[in-house]
Amino acid sequence: MKILVCVKRVADPNVKVRVRSDKTGVDLSNIKMTINPFDEIAVEAAIRLKERGVATEVVVVSCGPVASQDALRTALAMGADRGILVQTDAELQPLAVAKLVKSIVGKESPEVVMLGKQAIDDDANQTGQLLAALLDVPQATCASAIERDGDRMLVTRETDDGRETVEVSLPAVITADLRLNEPRYVTLPNLMKAKKKPLDTLDAASLGVDIAPKFTTVNVEEPPARKPGEIVLDVAALVARLRQETASN
Ligand code: AMP
Repeated sequence: MKILVCVKRVADPNVKVRVRSDKTGVDLSNIKMTINPFDEIAVEAAIRLKERGVATEVVVVSCGPVASQDALRTALAMGADRGILVQTDAELQPLAVAKLVKSIVGKESPEVVMLGKQAIDDDANQTGQLLAALLDVPQATCASAIERDGDRMLVTRETDDGRETVEVSLPAVITADLRLNEPRYVTLPNLMKAKKKPLDTLDAASLGVDIAPKFTTVNVEEPPARKPGEIVLDVAALVARLRQETASN
């Protein structure tokens, strides 16, 4: 079973990003970038399936500028077999990524395509669902456990009502949630070895899909500064303080 995993290069979640002065987005110049944390979980899940003999090959794909190679190299250092960079400097919205990945699926014919449930920069939570629709294959989103069951996959999902297990026929799209696993640490020797793993680059334009943005961001604002917290001495003081807050609202 071949697994294709989508990885996006995003701003490191531990770094504070600033809104650009024209308020059209955030300023990513000189910002530390990293692999999207949910994609790291998806890569880990795919590698574990390979280590258990369920999967035979793990291919990672990223769409974006040349620098997206960093995210692919991290995934290769974790244990993925090869990488594909779909290179473009254009702004990519979820539908565009889904269309580009669909083209790669056409070339690679994986039985499972894994994505993160969301990219932490746009928080769209759309690409996996759009991809499944474009491919017309089953989707299981927000996976917290994945098992193979014959020619199907059993995917456990955490919902507001508890855990739900869905069975999907293959090929299928699965998106990874936080509790699926704890990704392994990438060691320096493995990063060095990853440099020797195959990494192909394709020009996004050569795939012949319309990646033009479908919406425009009109305004981006910094979140309002949070009021500093207050330490109260005991429960009685806390209750009094809460009553006071409620009365004044
Ligand atoms: P989103 O729908 O933007 O929240 O992204 C959901 C998932 O789609 C991410 O966790 C990635 O697995 C995948 N994805 C989004 N953008 C890209 C990209 N440029 N290249 C590769 N995968 C992506």
